[in-house]
This record gives sequence, C-alpha cells and structure tokens, in this order.
Amino acid sequence: MSKTPAYAAASAQSPLAPFSIERREPGAHEVLIDIRYCGVCHSDIHQVRDEWGGSVFPMVPGHEIVGVVSRVGSAISKWKIGDVVGVGCFVDSCRHCEACKEGEEQFCAQGMSATYNGYERKPDGSLDTMRPTYGGYSSRITVDENYVLRIPTGMPLDRAAPLLCAGITTYSPLRHFGVKAGDKIAVVGLGGLGHMAVKIAKAMGAHVTVLSHSAGKRDDALRLGADDFLVTHDADVFKQHAGRFDFILDTISAQHDYNAYLGLLRRDGTMVLVGVPDPAPVHAFSLIVGRKRLAGSLIGSIRETQEMLDFCAAHGVASDIELIPIEQINAAYARMLKGDVRYRFVIDIASLDKAAA
Ligand code: NAP
Ligand code: ZN
Ligand code: ZN
Repeated sequence: MSKTPAYAAASAQSPLAPFSIERREPGAHEVLIDIRYCGVCHSDIHQVRDEWGGSVFPMVPGHEIVGVVSRVGSAISKWKIGDVVGVGCFVDSCRHCEACKEGEEQFCAQGMSATYNGYERKPDGSLDTMRPTYGGYSSRITVDENYVLRIPTGMPLDRAAPLLCAGITTYSPLRHFGVKAGDKIAVVGLGGLGHMAVKIAKAMGAHVTVLSHSAGKRDDALRLGADDFLVTHDADVFKQHAGRFDFILDTISAQHDYNAYLGLLRRDGTMVLVGVPDPAPVHAFSLIVGRKRLAGSLIGSIRETQEMLDFCAAHGVASDIELIPIEQINAAYARMLKGDVRYRFVIDIASLDKAAA
C-alpha cells in the first residue's frame, strides 16, 4: 500500500479539500500509474453533489486520467515502466456477462467498477462494497492492465486527458449510429463533451451545427470547426430550422425541453442523449410525427476508447483546455455551472504533489 495525496469531497455539501488515500501495490495483472493530468467532467459535479443519488463519500472524483506507468505486476507483458497511458470512466467489470464478453463493458450486467464513486471487485467478479474506488484527483492509481488505454505517441498529455470521457462519450454514439460524411448533425451544448463532439464529427466529415444557449460562443464554435451556430434562446430558431438535422447529440447538463430539439430532426432522424440533467417530459407526438428515434449512450468500451484515441491522433484532434492547479478545483466547478469553461478544465497533478510535499 502507498499513501497517496488526493482531493476529496466529504459530503454532498462540502467543497473539495486535501485528503489522503491508500493505493495498493499492483497485483500480478495490474499496473501502478503516476497521474500527470486529470480532466474535470460535469459528471464529477453531479456526483459530488449527489444529484444522481447514491453517491459514496468521501469521494475522490476524476475519470479523465493520463499518466505514466511506474510499476508493473509480475505477469504483465502489455505494459512497461514509462508507458504513457490513460484511464477512463471504469477500472473493471465482471468479465463474464454478455456485455463484458461482447466487449461492451460499460453495460456490464453486474455494473462496471466506476473509476470513482464505485466499488472494486471480488475475485468472483461481484462488487465489493467494502472497497470504494477513488478517481484521478490523486497522484497515483492502481488498475488492471485490461482497463488501461494507450495514449498515442505525440499527443499532448494534458489535452489528451479529456478524451478519456468527453472524447469517447461523443465518439461512441457518432460511430454507433453511423454518422457519416455529409450528414447534417447538431451538437447541443458547447461544453466539454460538446466541443469534442464538434471536432470528432467534423473529422468524420459531417456538416456540424452547434446549438447553444450562450451567444458568446459563436466564434469559438466556428473556430472549433462548426459550420453553423444557432442560439437557442431565440424561440424562432426552433421554427426556422424544423426538420433540418439527420442526427442530434444532446450534451446539455441542465434540465431543458427535449421536445423542442426533437422538432429539429428530419423524418427518421435520431437524437441521442448523453447529458444527464434532471428529468423532463417527452411527448409521444414529438417522436410519432416523423418516425423519430430518441436514444441514449453511455461512454464507450475499452476497445472503442482505444479506437477513438487512435482516430483523434490520426486527425490531430485533442481537447481545448484550461490547465488549473488542484487548489482551483472548487472555483472551476462554479465556473462550469455557469457554462464558463473553454472547453475543459484539466488539473495539473504536479500541483497536488507539490502541495503534499
Ligand atoms: P459542461 O462542460 O458543463 O457542458 C455542458 C453544456 O451544457 C454547457 O457548456 C452549456 O452549453 C450547456 N448548458 C448548461 N446549462 C444549460 C442550461 N441551463 N440550458 C441550456 N444549456 C445549458 O458539461 P460536460 O462535462 O460536457 O457534461 C455534459 C453532460 O453530459 C453532463 O450532464 C454530464 O454528466 C454528462 N455526461 C454523460 C456521459 C455519458 O456517458 N452519457 C459522459 C460524460 C458526461 P452552451 O453554453 O453551449 O449552451
Ligand atoms: Zn465524464
Ligand atoms: Zn459484466
């Protein structure tokens, strides 16, 4: 076991504050990773504030982790000391349910071991509720070799970190629902997920429109590669652009009217929800008229996450970030809640090591 500096929330009402956790020595099939950077996802805020229910405290958030392998277990051949690696939203799964066998571990029937606010597993694959997981707002993490991703050579490490959640969460539905060159797609909400969706969809050749409630993001949207930008507090937008899009990816973190956005789909179009706000009603007519589809998508598998990293490397795609020291994490949360992030906060974990020294 090694004592490891971290930042944790003690309860849903507490700010994040310095904390100490134990990381285990890597087992035969595990690696120990020295964390260099960790992205700040809106899911961190939802869970720290217990907005989805069932949060486990104290909580060390962080599931956009990039670091360097510093120790390897005795049976490891896939990784060596010095490898640059990533860890995303889960660190284990049962390995024998249908989803796990099909390489869709994020849908593990027994529940994935979320990187934080989850549980480690017992040898039989079931969740061990005595052992909570702690995420990337920490200096080190011990992870099974099969749940580690390779960061492609040449990718800037800080700008790669957000790919581990924001990247895969947007890449996966674009791929799964077959978005292709020339498709007219809309990305709703230009935050951490939204800006990655714009870049990835453009790299796939789609015609991308950003729908935002922040008029001031127009120039950024176009710079990020969007072809068009619409401000949604102008109600006329929903009339003028009715039936325009083949595919809509909804990344909004706050409650909003899904029906209004469904009206923007063409006949047989698909809208995929990835944002997880408080519930809001969907009217049957919003789907019936036009035979539209409403779907959801959860991060992506290990195989697909590696595919996404390689795709991003091949297309020169990485996140636009604001690098912060760990001491600014509470201020960063407050800014994210105001939609004020360009476009992902990433924690420089060296600041945590320094503070703990
Ligand atoms: P983020 O960086 O905070 O971005 C969210 C964006 O939503 C904001 O930038 C803003 O875009 C828009 N928005 C915020 N408040 C709004 C409001 N009141 N009305 C309309 N639009 C609003 O968050 P994120 O990290 O991208 O995460 C987005 C959501 O996805 C969160 O709910 C998160 O938990 C969820 N998520 C889901 C998965 C999954 O697997 N499904 C994975 C990761 C995250 P504009 O300023 O452009 O309007
Ligand atoms: Zn996330
Ligand atoms: Zn499983």
